[in-house]
Amino acid sequence: MSQLTVQILSGMCCGFGNCAALCPQVFALDYDSNRTRIVPGAPLADYAAEIAQAASECPTQAIHVVAFEDQARASHG
Ligand code: SF4
Repeated sequence: MSQLTVQILSGMCCGFGNCAALCPQVFALDYDSNRTRIVPGAPLADYAAEIAQAASECPTQAIHVVAFEDQARASHG
């Protein structure tokens, strides 16, 4: 099973909220800072397709996604 790590490069986020509109379970727009953040505890793997779409459609490419295999699985080759 793969896992995801998602980062928002806040210095690049322009705060339009496309990602939050696309997948509010993962992305939340902070109206105070006008930046998007990751919802704490969001089940990233359940929304992998939406996250990938949000990353590809982000106008400033501020969303970085890294997928990696579980440690246990990786250690077996
Ligand atoms: S789509 Fe990109 S620029 Fe727009 S709010 Fe989300 S992370 Fe920020």
